[in-house]
Amino acid sequence: MPTNLRFRRRSFLGLLFLFSLSTSVLYFIYSAPGIVNEYVFMVQARGIQIRENMKNIGAQVLEQVVRGAYSINGTDYSYDFNVSESDAPPPTYLPEGFTYLPSQVCPEKLPSMKGRLEVNMSEVSLEEVERFLLEGEPSIALGGHWKPEDCLPRWKVAILIPFRNRLEHLPILLRHLVPVLQKQRLQFAFYVIEQGGTEPFNRAMLFNVGYKEAMKDLNWDCLIFHDVDHLMENDRNYYGCTDMPRHFAVRLDKYSYMLPYNEFFGGVSGLTVKQFKKINGFPNAFWGWGGEDDDLWNRVQYANYTVSRPHGEHGRYMSIPHHHRGEAQFLGRYSLLRHSRERQRVDGLNNLNYSPQLSRRPLYTNITVSLSRKLAPIADY
Ligand code: BGC
Repeated sequence: MPTNLRFRRRSFLGLLFLFSLSTSVLYFIYSAPGIVNEYVFMVQARGIQIRENMKNIGAQVLEQVVRGAYSINGTDYSYDFNVSESDAPPPTYLPEGFTYLPSQVCPEKLPSMKGRLEVNMSEVSLEEVERFLLEGEPSIALGGHWKPEDCLPRWKVAILIPFRNRLEHLPILLRHLVPVLQKQRLQFAFYVIEQGGTEPFNRAMLFNVGYKEAMKDLNWDCLIFHDVDHLMENDRNYYGCTDMPRHFAVRLDKYSYMLPYNEFFGGVSGLTVKQFKKINGFPNAFWGWGGEDDDLWNRVQYANYTVSRPHGEHGRYMSIPHHHRGEAQFLGRYSLLRHSRERQRVDGLNNLNYSPQLSRRPLYTNITVSLSRKLAPIADY
């Protein structure tokens, strides 16, 4: 190649290099604030997440210390986690295209249950969810009643949701859960039990009310006690009951997907009607946040049941972020828990009076009830 041609080619490449360098510099100058902001945001978000995790881990450690000090469960009974499926090998599911008949009981491990779910926490109105779900499945009857038509439902499940001041959470839960229960081929309906009045929140008493009202509606055989802000992450977490009371919400994102303590029974749990009656339901004596699920755990143990849990990843949940809006922690819970056994006979389904107001919505029955201590008097024990 002649020298001048080589020289021209080199200067062209040089110019190209200078041009691309200057555009990169210009681009950086132009977008730097954005990039820096994004970076600062990421660092901040990471910081918040780490702080949240530390807070939760701290709360869990404290929980263990307090529990130890009060020796809530003492040596009254022994724990047996053998029935937990957490460590068992993963169950096998029926293959795609597997057919069943309308005259047969629906299988439990259906091919439609695919595993990990997308969790959509974006806010949506109740009307929108009603419209969307009923368009897809017009056979959902008033009150959110649904049952499969291609097989006989294995369980008739009443989903009970205690509720106060969480209007934005309910449609998010319904949008998420209804399609899952349909895939699981369960018969179901939703009961939202809303606490009126000014007393502290009483989650357990609301469940007792919900149970009594639901049983007037249909002869359910399985009860699911469900917090409104808990969204399952895996549709293989089957919401039918078992021969043992079941704890579904085993791994929560807010506890870094770990069980906060062995006896944790909160978030989402399920009992057959027979089991629930046998333990005299939930206690009514827990006013404010916390302790009622621990008492339910104790009741279950005293009735010689052993809690079962879903297999590893199946028990994952995300919770819609919120603060316990005005719901004060029930600090007296630890001392109350020391007498779970004695209270079980006298406080629960058998000492409960209330006057509910019922209304039916397309996707659930609303039960509003004003609660006060005198509605569940506890005789001396
Ligand atoms: C409360 C429980 C609660 C648990 C986890 C305990 O201190 O007594 O009701 O589920 O913490 O948050």
